[in-house]
Amino acid sequence: MTERKAQLTANLAQVEERIVSACAAAGRKREEVTLIVVTKTYPASDVRVLNELGVRHVAENRDQDAAPKATECADLSLTWHFVGQLQTNKVRSVASYADVVQSVDRTKLVTALSAAAGRGGRELGCLIQVALDAESGERGERGGVAPDGIAELADAVAAAPGLRLDGLMTVAPLAGPFAGRQRAAFDRLMEFSSRLRGNHPAANMVSAGMSADLEDAVAAGATHVRVGTAVLGVRPGLG
Ligand SMILES: *Cc1c(COP(=O)(O)O)cnc(C)c1O
Repeated sequence: MTERKAQLTANLAQVEERIVSACAAAGRKREEVTLIVVTKTYPASDVRVLNELGVRHVAENRDQDAAPKATECADLSLTWHFVGQLQTNKVRSVASYADVVQSVDRTKLVTALSAAAGRGGRELGCLIQVALDAESGERGERGGVAPDGIAELADAVAAAPGLRLDGLMTVAPLAGPFAGRQRAAFDRLMEFSSRLRGNHPAANMVSAGMSADLEDAVAAGATHVRVGTAVLGVRPGLG
């Protein structure tokens, strides 16, 4: 086993243990939570090793890095999630490899994603990214629609050819009333999810929680956690 593979094996085992404990503490079954490993800034070789170790979901946040990586790993059966802020000029590329776009936060993006999915003959899963601290009509600093914009955007996704409304995603706010209160933030996201499922029963995916706060997300009821650092290590520089 290479040193890197040994390291990733150990890290994955630790994260798995954390998810198992969090599920047990919340009275949830382990199968209710899917681990998505965020491979941003790390090479395709790591994605390959993770796949060997049983990882089936990976996420990226920049098309420039993700596109060549997805191409290099096209032979693997992985589900690719796009979790970064998305410019409309990147949509065509992202739609060619992503299975799920978790960062849908405006109608212009819905239109572009629908067109790209149609051109590529693919169905794209979409999550509405919610900025829990954004004021009505505004967007979050790290992307996301304000809570009162969820319903309209969800209806737009549900009506768009080539797109499938899968649920909601959030990143716990660093500032504002939810700063340092991840559990409260994720509880709020779950309320929005319940409301959403009233109109769109199949949109039951809730993506929340990262390396630092996955326990809070599992406790609140998240179905998907997005873990980077705890599996791959601290990223050099920004990302
Ligand atoms: C980078 C990133 C993650 C993973 O964060 P870690 O703290 O490294 O686990 C999760 N979600 C999004 C949207 C990200 O950009």
